[in-house]
Amino acid sequence: MKYLPWIHRGILLTLISLVIGGVVYFHTTVDPLITLERAVQAVVYVETGYRSAPGVHLYWQAQRLEHVLSFVNGATITYGPLADSYGVTNTQTRQIHIDDTLSWNGRFEVLTHEAGHLLQPGRLNSVEAEVFAEGVSYLVLRHYKHDRLELHAHYLSSRKAGLHVLREFATDIRYAAQILTVR
Ligand SMILES: [Zn+2]
Repeated sequence: MKYLPWIHRGILLTLISLVIGGVVYFHTTVDPLITLERAVQAVVYVETGYRSAPGVHLYWQAQRLEHVLSFVNGATITYGPLADSYGVTNTQTRQIHIDDTLSWNGRFEVLTHEAGHLLQPGRLNSVEAEVFAEGVSYLVLRHYKHDRLELHAHYLSSRKAGLHVLREFATDIRYAAQILTVR
């Protein structure tokens, strides 16, 4: 080091900093879909229930998502009673129905999942489709700083057979989430 002119030392130190910075950045920026996959694997029991978030502070986000779904994706969103679930999507007619007993925050959570179904690739089986929709939901909710990793992990804990979708369809999941959060 002491034989190097100062300018070379400067360049060398800059390069070393860049390499160290890059390694640190790479290790601290984990792909959120991988984070989700790990969280699902960590839930060892079968959790079938869904506890929606209370509150209304996501009302405008829900309105925005509705707007995107209807104008970009040609979907119709209705609210009303539902017997067996909190949301249903008919991918053929592009109709989404959400349980109106949910809070607005809850409706938004369910809507992000149903929106994922609307954009899912046609060749997925029913378990894989749930993983795809929930992956989209996780990214969209995360975008709005409504990060409920536990909620998604519990929902998918009984659907581990389809978890490979989070890796195989990562590009499609990210793309769907991007469409749904477009400004
Ligand atoms: Zn679903």
